[in-house]
Amino acid sequence: MSRYRISLLVAALLCVLEVARGQPALCWAILTALTILVGLGVAWPQLSFFGRFICRSQNSRRQVALTFDDGPDARSTPALLDLLRQEGVPAAFFCIGQRVSGERELTARICHEGHLLGNHTYHHSNFTNFFGPGRLRQELQTTQAVITAAAGTAPTYFRPPMGLSNPFVFYVARKLGLQVIGWSIRSLDTRITDPERVTRRVVARLLPGAIILLHDGKIPAERLVLTVKSLLVKLREHGYEVVRLDKLLA
Ligand SMILES: [Zn+2]
Repeated sequence: MSRYRISLLVAALLCVLEVARGQPALCWAILTALTILVGLGVAWPQLSFFGRFICRSQNSRRQVALTFDDGPDARSTPALLDLLRQEGVPAAFFCIGQRVSGERELTARICHEGHLLGNHTYHHSNFTNFFGPGRLRQELQTTQAVITAAAGTAPTYFRPPMGLSNPFVFYVARKLGLQVIGWSIRSLDTRITDPERVTRRVVARLLPGAIILLHDGKIPAERLVLTVKSLLVKLREHGYEVVRLDKLLA
């Protein structure tokens, strides 16, 4: 049973008890606490509040996985792929379906160069977390279809936009055979413009089994390449191996 369901049950039981004790006013306090808890559950993948949000491997080996969101982007993804090839480093790319439709060759290249393709919805709407199960299912299914058509392989991992979740996210993902992936280190690479600062932020949070969130979409190519270069140097200095997400979670 999810933490969400347990919270609902506990809140309902407490409310019944308070009403039985003749103190129905306390129900407001219980409902307020429940609302705050649900809000935190929506925003924090690491809480796994509505279902199993995989944010880190439980493995104690000094291994991490790099994940890149919001591509493929013809302005930045090719430069990143060149760098990853030079460095011999695999990564996971959580792709926006609509972008895949416009960049089929680039999507195929990501796959052919040994990286993993993940589902990041079709439209990457800011309102995804308000979608009902039907619309969400359509977003995920269409993305599965376009990625499969471009690269010949269907994703098994899904990352919701901005990491926001609700019960439908886990219900729909389960129906489509997708595991829901979060992160343990958010690099903030689209907001922090200094690559060295991004690297310092990631290194300060390093732990074995970390899943590192980066972006290959909505970021200038030069900044992206400098960030990943500097990060790879520091990861090696700290004795960490970069492995593909599926290997990290195996
Ligand atoms: Zn995204």
